[in-house]
Order: sequence, then structure tokens, then C-alpha cells
Amino acid sequence: MYQARAYSASGLQSPLASTKIPRREPSGHDVQIEILFCGICHSDLHAVRNEWSDVMPTVYPIVPGHEIVGRVTKVGPEVSNYKPGDLAAVGCLVDSDRTCPRCHAGLENLCKKRVLTYNSPDEHLGGVTYGGYSESIVVDEHFVLRVPANLNLAAAAPLLCAGITTYSPIRRHAIDTSQRVGVVGLGGLGHMGVKIAHALGAHVTVFTTSPKKKDDALRLGANEVIVSTEANAMKKQAGTFDFILDTVSADHDINAYLKLLGVKGNLTLVGAPSKPLSVSAFRLISDDRSLSGSAIGGIPETQEMLDFCGTHNLTADVEVIPIQKVNEAYERLLKSDVKYRFSIDMASLKS
Ligand code: NAP
Ligand code: ZN
Repeated sequence: MYQARAYSASGLQSPLASTKIPRREPSGHDVQIEILFCGICHSDLHAVRNEWSDVMPTVYPIVPGHEIVGRVTKVGPEVSNYKPGDLAAVGCLVDSDRTCPRCHAGLENLCKKRVLTYNSPDEHLGGVTYGGYSESIVVDEHFVLRVPANLNLAAAAPLLCAGITTYSPIRRHAIDTSQRVGVVGLGGLGHMGVKIAHALGAHVTVFTTSPKKKDDALRLGANEVIVSTEANAMKKQAGTFDFILDTVSADHDINAYLKLLGVKGNLTLVGAPSKPLSVSAFRLISDDRSLSGSAIGGIPETQEMLDFCGTHNLTADVEVIPIQKVNEAYERLLKSDVKYRFSIDMASLKS
């Protein structure tokens, strides 16, 4: 075991602050990674503030961060795929049982025994797992991913959560050039959803509450932008969408978007507001619409997404910040004031 520098929140009311955390020495199939950049996901904020207490209560202290890119520094004796000096990435998962049908299908994200990168029981050191707001992490090679060499590392980090969480449902709903896709919320996930759906050739419409994001939405690949508070503009879109990806982090009216789906259209929720959303049965029944959810993605699909982003030269639009600005960044996330993902330069942990 060794000690690593990190940022943690020690309690519900506490801001994130500098600390030291234990990490295991790499053995067996373990890969030790020096973390270079870590994205800030809105899930980090939900978790730090225990907003999902009903389903995933937060254990303090918490070290968030699951959009990790870095360089391999040491490997265990049984590691075959990585060597010191390699670029490597870690997303939301660091383990699973690897024997169940879901794991065999490459759906480690849905394994009953999945171990999340932070706030999951840590069978190696006891307590809970600690995430990427840290100088290093040790992860089994099965959960380590390869970053295409052409991608900027600070901007590639958000692919590990925002990228896969949008890529997976967009692929599942077989988006092609004939389909009309809506993306609700232009934040970290939403802006990656726009880029990915556009790269797959879909006709993309962004729904935003922020009129000032209109030009950016078009630049990111949207064909159309609707300000969702404009009732007439919303009305004109009724019944016209094949698929809508809802990335909103707070309470909002999803019936307004169900109404925009055509026959057998699907709305997939990836946003995870803390309170239940209300659904009008008739918005689903009329026109055979469906409502579903999607949780990140499995390891093989995450690698597929990274390779897709490498081929298409796709990364997040990031504002790189030192770790000392993390609390300020959380406040800005709450005001939808980020273009479009914060990426922490982990070198700042040393200053
Ligand atoms: P984010 O960067 O904060 O973006 C959320 C966007 O939602 C905002 O930029 C804003 O877009 C819109 N929004 C915020 N408050 C709103 C409100 N009151 N009404 C309507 N729209 C509002 O967050 P993120 O990192 O993309 O994460 C989004 C959500 O996905 C979070 O709940 C997060 O926990 C969840 N998540 C889920 C998974 C999964 O596996 N399913 C994975 C990662 C994250 P506009 O300004 O354009 O309106
Ligand atoms: Zn995330």
C-alpha cells in the first residue's frame, strides 16, 4: 500500500480539499496509472452532495472522478496488455464479477457485482473505492482502456463517461442518416451526444434552456436548435423525432419531449435527477412510444467508442482547470455554465 495525493469531500457540507489516500501496490493483473487529466461529471457533484441517497448513498470521505486518462507507471507480473509509459484510461468501472452472463456479454456496466471507480466497496483495501481526483490509481487491466494517440488528452478524458454514456444508447437505437435525433441539455453529456450523433450521420436537434448556447450547438454539429422555453417552437416539433436523448441533470418536464416523438419513437434518459420524474401515460400510449434508461456502457463498447472517436478525431470541448478550482467548477455546473466539460490538470495537485 502507498499514499497518493487526492482531493476529497469529508462530509455533506464540506468542500473538496487536499488529502492523502491509500492505493494498493500493483500485483497480479493490476496496472498503476499516473493520472494526467480527469473530467468533472455532474455525477461527481450529485455524489459529493449525496443527492442519490435513496439508491447510492455516499460514503465519506469521497474522492470523485471517473473520466481518467494518464500514463502507466507500473504493472503487476501477470499484466500482458500494458507496459510502463503507455497511455491508458479508466472510466466508471474498476471491477465486476466477470463470470455472470452480463459480464460474458461485455455488459460489465450491468453486472450485479460491478465496482464503480468511486463510492463502491473496495475488496482490496476495505472502505470504498476512490476515484480520479488523485495523482494515481491502480486498476485491473480488464478495466483499463486504450486512448487513441491522435487525441488531445485533456479533451479525451470526458469520453470515459460523457462519451460512452451517449455513444451507447445512440448506437443502440441504430442512428443513421434517415433518423431525426433530439438531444436535451447541452452540457457535458449533451455536447458529446451531438458530436457522436452528427458523426454517425443523424439529423440532430438540440433542446436547450440556454439561448446563448445556440451558436455553439450548431458549431458542435446540430442541424437545428430549439430553446425549450419557447412554446411555439416546441409545438412545431410535435411527433417528428425517432429518438431523443435526455441528458438533463435536474427536475424537468419529460412529457414535453415524449410529445415530440413519432410513432414508436424512443426517449432514453441518461440524465439522473435526484427526484422522480412524472410521466403522462397518454404521452406513451398514443403512438406506441417508449421510455428507457441507459447506464454508461460495457468495457468492449467503451473501447469501440474510443476507437470511433480516434477515427473521427472527436473529443470534448474542455475548460482545463487546476484542482484548486474544483469547488468553483461545481457551482458553475449548477448554473449550466460550462463549455462543455471541465477537465482537471492533475499536475496541479503537486502545487
Ligand atoms: P451538465 O454538464 O451539468 O449538463 C446538464 C445540462 O442539463 C445543463 O448544461 C443544461 O443544459 C441542462 N439543465 C440543467 N438544469 C436544468 C433544468 N433545471 N431544466 C432543464 N435543463 C437543465 O451535466 P452532465 O455531466 O452532462 O450530466 C448530466 C446528467 O447525466 C447528470 O444527472 C449526471 O449524473 C447524469 N449521468 C448519467 C450517466 C448514466 O450512465 N446514465 C452517466 C453520466 C452522467 P442547457 O443549458 O442546454 O439547458
Ligand atoms: Zn460521469
